[in-house]
Amino acid sequence: MTLVYQSTRDANNRVTASQAILQGLATDGGLFTPLTYPHLTLDFDRLKDLSYQEVAKLILGAFLDDFTAEELDYCINNAYDSKFDDARIAPLVKLDGQYNLELFHGSTIAFKDMALSILPYLMTTAAKKHGLENKIVILTATSGDTGKAAMAGFADVPGTEIIVFYPKDGVSKVQELQMTTQTGDNTHVVAIDGNFDDAQTNVKEMFNDEALRAKLADKQLQFSSANSMNIGRLVPQIVYYVYAYAQLVKAGEIVAGEAVNFTVPTGNFGNILAAFYAKQIGLPVGKLICASNENNVLTDFFKTKVYDKKRAFKVTTSPSMDILVSSNLERLIFHLLGNDAEKTAELMAALAADGQYEVQPVEAEIFDWFVAECATEEETALEIKRIYDSSRYIEDPHTAVASSVYQKYVAETKDATKTVIASTASPYKFPVVAVEAVTGETGLSDFAALAQLQELSGVALPLAVDGLETATVRHKTVVAARDMQAEVERYLGL
Ligand SMILES: *Cc1c(COP(=O)(O)O)cnc(C)c1O
Repeated sequence: MTLVYQSTRDANNRVTASQAILQGLATDGGLFTPLTYPHLTLDFDRLKDLSYQEVAKLILGAFLDDFTAEELDYCINNAYDSKFDDARIAPLVKLDGQYNLELFHGSTIAFKDMALSILPYLMTTAAKKHGLENKIVILTATSGDTGKAAMAGFADVPGTEIIVFYPKDGVSKVQELQMTTQTGDNTHVVAIDGNFDDAQTNVKEMFNDEALRAKLADKQLQFSSANSMNIGRLVPQIVYYVYAYAQLVKAGEIVAGEAVNFTVPTGNFGNILAAFYAKQIGLPVGKLICASNENNVLTDFFKTKVYDKKRAFKVTTSPSMDILVSSNLERLIFHLLGNDAEKTAELMAALAADGQYEVQPVEAEIFDWFVAECATEEETALEIKRIYDSSRYIEDPHTAVASSVYQKYVAETKDATKTVIASTASPYKFPVVAVEAVTGETGLSDFAALAQLQELSGVALPLAVDGLETATVRHKTVVAARDMQAEVERYLGL
């Protein structure tokens, strides 16, 4: 039997995994979401000896079940190869009182690589399966990391174009240079005068614009999404939670069956949702700890069941989490409402119209899997320093938000369950913040900080930032948020 992926907003909009990956977003504005979960036997005495790629075959085979084993082998083997600078792909590091699951060993040194290195293969394989002739146009809004990781994956992939929008003043210098120096004839990077939510809202509107879709079709083009709304992003992220657990068993840190907590620095709610799906297929997970920065709309949501985006947007040192509308939360809402598409659509309409909604009643069992807390800018910097002092290890600011939140959680609950921190970026991606937190210096340039970071951490400069300072800037377009569609039409010659 093939798994059904249904739109969160229309019970009649049902597709298979490969169709969901091709479409990206449902045309009704909803997100394709699994209605049931595959049955897997997670035997950790066996799993502990599997490579990352082998665990990926197991998980992807179960969730993306209309792909053949050969197709998935091809995708997995091309994605998780020497692009990663560690053969374990996602190594687990033991620190004082926590385990950091390093998800930043791919080509752009942030966790988006974990899924975006495989998405182009899944998408082009799905296109071939369905005999699709159209060129796929990947349209992406990025808060800094997705854009680069998506371009690294899609650059010069035949049959694709990729257009990335990022908030001009909302990303770090290193992040911006990583994007604007991107090569590839099919890549187009555009800065917007606006924040990430403006970028994401306009991208969603383009996806849902029927007239625009028709114009694209006339030119044998069609949109798809590399954002975490695409189920092809979400499913590969389930893999590393299972892998991390197996590594803990292998190292003798836990016994098979023992519960483990995951703390996840959260923005669009994709990464933590993957942990939720891991728990749904039987991974022994205790709490899913949702960590936010000062944009703490999710913290409030889990405490009150009210989602309220009507608040000031803050630019923080963890920009990939500067989000007021967490797109993937819609999938959890759908599950909390017992997979009720009509009710989910109503709440999302309320969010668009009134800026808020309340989820009532919820499936309490699932809701209680989650705990949420936030960290201030000051707490985040102090946490980078604390970890450095105790372990000589430097966390990036996103990871530090999570580990700060975990500290608060332990202080409050005394929960002694072993806990894994999803470590979502290398400190080399945010060198100024990392170095300033450790040394107390201020006013460093990005490139001075890179050198200093190398000295402090003893970790070699990753390829992703080596040479960035002198690389040629190829993308200089800046547009107002309201002109995003015009820019897309201009670039594609519509
Ligand atoms: C994208 C990102 C996040 C947030 O992940 P979501 O899946 O959007 O919740 C956290 N940290 C880093 C470094 C990221 O790039």
